[in-house]
Amino acid sequence: MAALEEVWRSDFPLIADSDIVYLDNAASAQKPRRVLEALDTYYRTTNANVHRGVHKLSERATTQFEAARERVARFIGASDPASVIWTRGTTEAINLVALAFAPTVLHESSNVVISVMEHHSNIVPWQQACLASGAELRAIELTASGELDLDDAAAKIDANTAIIAIGHASNALGTVNPLEHLKGLAKGAYLVVDGAQGAPHLPVDVEAMDCDFYAFSGHKMYGPTGIGVLYGRPDLLRAMPPWQTGGEMIEHVSIKRSSFADLPHKFEAGTPDISGAIGLGAAVDYFDSFPLAAIDAHEQNLLSAATSGLQQIEGVEIIGTARNKVPVVSFTMQGAHPHDVGTLLDQQNVAVRTGHHCAMPLMESLGIPGTIRASFSLYNSTADVDRLIAAVQKARTFL
Ligand SMILES: *Cc1c(COP(=O)(O)O)cnc(C)c1O
Repeated sequence: MAALEEVWRSDFPLIADSDIVYLDNAASAQKPRRVLEALDTYYRTTNANVHRGVHKLSERATTQFEAARERVARFIGASDPASVIWTRGTTEAINLVALAFAPTVLHESSNVVISVMEHHSNIVPWQQACLASGAELRAIELTASGELDLDDAAAKIDANTAIIAIGHASNALGTVNPLEHLKGLAKGAYLVVDGAQGAPHLPVDVEAMDCDFYAFSGHKMYGPTGIGVLYGRPDLLRAMPPWQTGGEMIEHVSIKRSSFADLPHKFEAGTPDISGAIGLGAAVDYFDSFPLAAIDAHEQNLLSAATSGLQQIEGVEIIGTARNKVPVVSFTMQGAHPHDVGTLLDQQNVAVRTGHHCAMPLMESLGIPGTIRASFSLYNSTADVDRLIAAVQKARTFL
């Protein structure tokens, strides 16, 4: 394990040559050299618009752009690459579903079920879809350990539930959600998974999971910012109207009417983030070149070391103690505001996130203004955990 740990660290230039202990991976992960090189090579050797030109550069750009789509499709177990739609990230992907799909299934007597732990980008789009359609928005409550209350889930999901929109894992607590169980309760409801924290840590097989939509962001799984993915069941995507219109997404345009392109282009109006898609393809290549079990064992080891180290500090309380967690540890410190703790950690070159983590309803349900959150990636080490614990101990003496 130690050998692989060293390789991982050395693959990330910003981390390898820095004294910064980067523990804000749930917000955005660092990029391996392979991704940086893919971006650089694309702009140096290929740069041109896709799907349009007859010239060599455009053809090459198109080939690489579509190869990245195929790569991502393989990574998430989607047998049809056309079911992979490029978006700006998870937020845009969920908005696409809420704006183009939800109106086709929501009406005044239907409901949408989310949970109290959702990220704002898996709450607000559904609020808007419910406001527009008259459907009801319901949120599954949590247990004391920060897991979904499955009795409450069984009560809230009923025959009128049209959509269940749930995080694969929580960015604020780390909790991994039982998607299969929810699917079992669904009685015909469509399952939309916010995979922003799932794709970087958990096995993703959209067909085996039997989800209807799966959204994730490139930048949280070692890829560039500005690119993300919406997987959609091909029959659903085909039946949905487009959500943005313009170039690239059409088949034929006249002044009065237009017909639309086939999947996936129907949902990709305008010039896409070509280098971003190619960069994400490189990130998937990188991530997928290691056994997920090895990454998971390493990250879980860091999580448990951090958790037990923090637990031993007086006044520290771990928020979110689910049995099954991605490597995220949220905590509070008695008598101290999370922001002040974060600032003292930053002074010691330990980068964490503080606040509500885009999950204000969750914080409200916990009765706290926010937490301090350390989140790990494959390039983190047990030395990073030691630095975190020492920095929190030191911060405590100041507060
Ligand atoms: C980060 C995150 C999002 C939003 O992702 P963007 O890349 O900002 O669009 C949504 N859900 C969860 C669980 C996240 O962690």
